Amino acid sequence: MVLVLSGRAFDGRSFVEHLEVAIRGDRIERVGQSLDGDHLPGSYVILPGLIDAHVHFFGVEEDNVLQWNVVSDSLATARSAGDALRLLSAGFTAVRDLGSKCALALATAIEEGRTLGPRIIASGFSLAETGGNDDPRELPLEMARSLSYSFYCDSPWECRRAVRLCVRQGAGVIKVYASGAFSGSGKVKPAFTLDELRSIVDESHRAGLKVAMHAYGEEAIGNSIDAGADSIEHGLGLTESLAKEMKTKGVYYVPTLATYEIGLRTRRMPDEVRKAREELIKRHMETDVQIARDNGVLIVAGTDYVGSIARRHGLNYREAVLLSKFLGLQGALRSITSTAAECLGLKAGVLESGYYADLALFKEVNEVEDLRPENLEYVVTRGRVFRATELRQLSLWAP
Ligand SMILES: [Zn+2]
Repeated sequence: MVLVLSGRAFDGRSFVEHLEVAIRGDRIERVGQSLDGDHLPGSYVILPGLIDAHVHFFGVEEDNVLQWNVVSDSLATARSAGDALRLLSAGFTAVRDLGSKCALALATAIEEGRTLGPRIIASGFSLAETGGNDDPRELPLEMARSLSYSFYCDSPWECRRAVRLCVRQGAGVIKVYASGAFSGSGKVKPAFTLDELRSIVDESHRAGLKVAMHAYGEEAIGNSIDAGADSIEHGLGLTESLAKEMKTKGVYYVPTLATYEIGLRTRRMPDEVRKAREELIKRHMETDVQIARDNGVLIVAGTDYVGSIARRHGLNYREAVLLSKFLGLQGALRSITSTAAECLGLKAGVLESGYYADLALFKEVNEVEDLRPENLEYVVTRGRVFRATELRQLSLWAP
């Protein structure tokens, strides 16, 4: 059976006034005009399904390092199954999880058709140095290590082994914390030596996996690029010369503005550290993405939402709204469809034959705010069509 969708469309690159998309099985079979098949009734704008390139399925209520670590695997999984449905009901047909206890299992259950949700490209555990980012230091080290969703590793060979452990888990990408928190002086501390980062990239690429590096500050971003990272996550403190290097090497930039928009309360810290942190974030919201754009860096939508009360999954379209300030409507749409799909290495994000039939059909898309879930008519995932209102009901949607 062939299903044909027709209407105004954004094909992953630009708007097309009238397009028909024919779907067979879980793929787009043809794109063109006057196609044969059963037509999906209604008036809608056809978009490739939305993609969030940076999430965590933490399954927590409170949003802090301790909770992210101590939540049990089973509770995190059960809550995240609900979050996956919310993401789908908001038009997200693919996400990339960069470190959590349950995303690989959730991805499997969704692939098996046992529960509904977006495709999940997951890292499994992340890689961090001992005492690095997201290490709940109030706990004894061995306890923190055993609860963590990161493998702590502290030499080039331990780093290689950690990548192999991720591969054993079934990772679809490798996530690295290439910087930590702010140090006493208000400077960001880079994490891992260049040797360690190079070992991680070499081992990951040997396994055919891309490497996403969390990097705050010029030094950590520079180390990540030198080591061969495939994407820079957050990337606060981007400079002109780093942006030029990213462009040359084809490194993706995932600035996760949506998280900074929320402004999480952070751990108690000295005033000067808090000030330095706030300044870095303010600069990030105002100029870092502009530097990336002006130097032709590939910019990708990722929220860093984790499924807490503050960063609940479902309103992830906010990242496109924030990016549109720099990229305009079509640029923001590319960042949340085609460019995100390329970053994930997924055959999705464009309306072309052979690509996944993962689509989001909106009532209209005249401005980027129109990507809000209430404006969604249908979601198509793996070629199956769902009414957005029904999915929202099932997901107990209450933004
Ligand atoms: Zn993150």
